[in-house]
Amino acid sequence: MTNIIIAIDGYSSTGKGTFAMEIARRLGILYLDSGALYRTVTLYALQNGEIEWNGAILDRRLQEDIILGKIDISVMSKADGTMRVFLGDEDVSGRIRELEVARNVSAIATLPFVRNFVDEQLHRLGSKGCVMDGRDIGTAVFPNADLKIFMTADAEIRAQRRVLQMEQAGQHPSFEEVLKNVQERDYIDSHRAMNPLRKADDAIVLDNSHMTVEEQMVWLDGILRERFNIGIL
Ligand code: C5P
Repeated sequence: MTNIIIAIDGYSSTGKGTFAMEIARRLGILYLDSGALYRTVTLYALQNGEIEWNGAILDRRLQEDIILGKIDISVMSKADGTMRVFLGDEDVSGRIRELEVARNVSAIATLPFVRNFVDEQLHRLGSKGCVMDGRDIGTAVFPNADLKIFMTADAEIRAQRRVLQMEQAGQHPSFEEVLKNVQERDYIDSHRAMNPLRKADDAIVLDNSHMTVEEQMVWLDGILRERFNIGIL
């Protein structure tokens, strides 16, 4: 069953990416990280001076660039479940994880023309089957997804995970700053006008505050067996 669409939504740093990648690897299907596309648009805007020092966005210029097709995003999904993202010819998979991008991405993601642009790319890439993670996949991008999961975890635990991830990437963030960023993004994501973060009515909640990735796989295996008669263990 390779054309299955699994939508994984939830709060920032709940481990959606790790969870989704592992599912994609085990099922042998495509993994698509929708947040990476919002981050790439944000990086583009930063590189082109379209976000001012105080966070103000020059949205007319950004919209014009999108209309003119200047933002050339492509992705490469690998057999190990990971995904790389390119802006033009440049592999920006590392740069889009930096704090400056994280600080601005939620504001960029509130802009309807950015959401429409990203949604088009996600449909183009994922319609034939994928595991896709984000904030509005089960509610807006693929409302008819075969399976929807909504992930949550304690904010402190999420910030700790994020700090560890950033340290592994050679960055030195402060815990307080990362926690603040996680909470701010949750707030903006849940309160924006267009497709805010919310649990789809038919999504299953996964609180992984105290679960390992393997425990999450065991949890999902039960659901996949019951619903689709496929296993991942
Ligand atoms: O998942 P990640 O943290 O990389 O996403 C970055 C940001 O992109 C989120 O904080 C959110 O503001 C935005 N986003 C979104 N809708 C999605 C995925 C991400 O608004 N489907």
